[in-house]
Amino acid sequence: ALKAGIVGLPNVGKSTLFNAITQAGAESANYPFCTIDPNVGVVEVPDERLDKLVELVQPNKTVPTAFEFVDIAGLVRGASKGEGLGNKFLAHIREVDAIVHVVRCFVDENVTHVDGKVNPISDIQTINLELILADLESVEKRIERSRKNIKGGDKKYAQEVEVLERVKEALYQDQPARSLELSDDERQIVRDLHLLTLKPVLYAANVGEDEVATAEENPYVQQVREFAAAENAEVVPISAKVEAEIAELEGEDKEMFLEELGLQESGLNRLIKAAYKLLGLYTYFTAGVQEVRAWTIRKGTKAPGAAGVIHTDFERGFIRAEVVAYTDLVAAGSMNGAKERGQLRLEGKEYLVQDGDVMHFRFNV
Ligand code: GDP
Repeated sequence: ALKAGIVGLPNVGKSTLFNAITQAGAESANYPFCTIDPNVGVVEVPDERLDKLVELVQPNKTVPTAFEFVDIAGLVRGASKGEGLGNKFLAHIREVDAIVHVVRCFVDENVTHVDGKVNPISDIQTINLELILADLESVEKRIERSRKNIKGGDKKYAQEVEVLERVKEALYQDQPARSLELSDDERQIVRDLHLLTLKPVLYAANVGEDEVATAEENPYVQQVREFAAAENAEVVPISAKVEAEIAELEGEDKEMFLEELGLQESGLNRLIKAAYKLLGLYTYFTAGVQEVRAWTIRKGTKAPGAAGVIHTDFERGFIRAEVVAYTDLVAAGSMNGAKERGQLRLEGKEYLVQDGDVMHFRFNV
């Protein structure tokens, strides 16, 4: 499954947020087996389209698609030098697909700040510097190795060195690798190094519990927004403390509490959606009377690959897919209605699955 890692300095609210995530996940009956690793929280991806399909089909069972958050606590200044088990944490970051960087924007004298005062930009830069230093080490090692290979007469390493020199230059200027414009070929070369600063990032601006409705007016949030805009990153204002309270509630109680707070939906839902988007993920649906279910694929997945998310046999034996776009299905009111309108398509192996496709696979066993 795709994972987002939660990082940030100590005392910014990471555990509080992570606890809200696991609490929300624990309520889900669909993914109980996923709660074995205490550092991994599984959440359901909220999707209004799934609710609508359930209304149409009235299935026996509904299964939303899920998403994983990994708690990567312990990242401190000096981590890249191996201080405070730092390198272990950096290794954990290497394994995630995206980074949720929690930034402290709440003021509370009772909660110590590692640097003595609230300063989100300086906090971000502290963490980023560790990631940049770790990447610099990887890049320099690789350049050295490739140079040796060039000397040995192998020319294909010339392009590699050229790209890596550009990455190195950016890192030296405190720029993350993701800020570079890379061609597909170059990206391929760089991908191999699993650089930390190449991973997409979103900033979770943790505001005080009395600020949830007015988070945008918080000057710290504004600073984070400005910083993030410069690197094309997304910001989700959230109050970790309030999310922990919301996560304890269900159904009507939850809705009433959100209304009291002046919120349309929980910050956690916004965070999940933003992380999903950040990863370039698509959702397709299967909609039978037994089960209506949402499935996650990466953008650019072809029909057999999408079938493989359900079962490897579906991919191996793939023949065709019956496909109707979610909007067409809803407009037609039923599968038969969509068929009559000629909106139920038969697609083959090369079909690029679209976000919101409702699919039925035909396959050989
Ligand atoms: P971590 O070290 O980043 O995991 O931070 P924690 O989640 O343990 O939070 C550190 C402290 O800050 C705890 O005492 C939390 O209760 C507190 N805290 C977290 N979020 C908020 C908030 O929005 N407002 C206030 N006042 N305190 C918070």
